[in-house]
Amino acid sequence: MKYRTGIGYDVHRLATGRPLVLGGVIIPHEQGLLGHSDADVVLHAIGDALLGAAGLGDLGELFPNTDPAYRDADSRALLREICRRVEAAGWRPVSVDTMIVAEAPRLADWKPAMRRSVAQVLGLPAEAVSIKAGTNEGLDAIGRGEAIGCWASVLITRAGG
Ligand code: MG
Repeated sequence: MKYRTGIGYDVHRLATGRPLVLGGVIIPHEQGLLGHSDADVVLHAIGDALLGAAGLGDLGELFPNTDPAYRDADSRALLREICRRVEAAGWRPVSVDTMIVAEAPRLADWKPAMRRSVAQVLGLPAEAVSIKAGTNEGLDAIGRGEAIGCWASVLITRAGG
């Protein structure tokens, strides 16, 4: 098989005293995401999608949140390590689509920067990366502004294919 797809999802709680990092971009906001690493839900969802496509397990298996090595880790480094493993397994990413679900802040102005950032980490042209964002219409924890979530899907192909 020449192509495979994968999906990923992540959610983190919002808390004061943390920077908000989405897609490797620091976004001005009064709260940031709480987590063992920098809690970048966008890069975590993409990472899980890549691992899924390549059949390499999930993010939690690779980077346990009990491991002090990943405390406050830059998720761009984690995603680069995932790319190395995907490539070692004979695959390379072709395209990525994401859907961020956040009640606040408004992310429209930040989509181009997130797109460039994600493309750079994955070694893809910006056109191959899609960053979408919406709200949860006030419903549930994300809708109450207590958390931000992100869905991702990726397409990978055989390296050299
Ligand atoms: Mg996460």
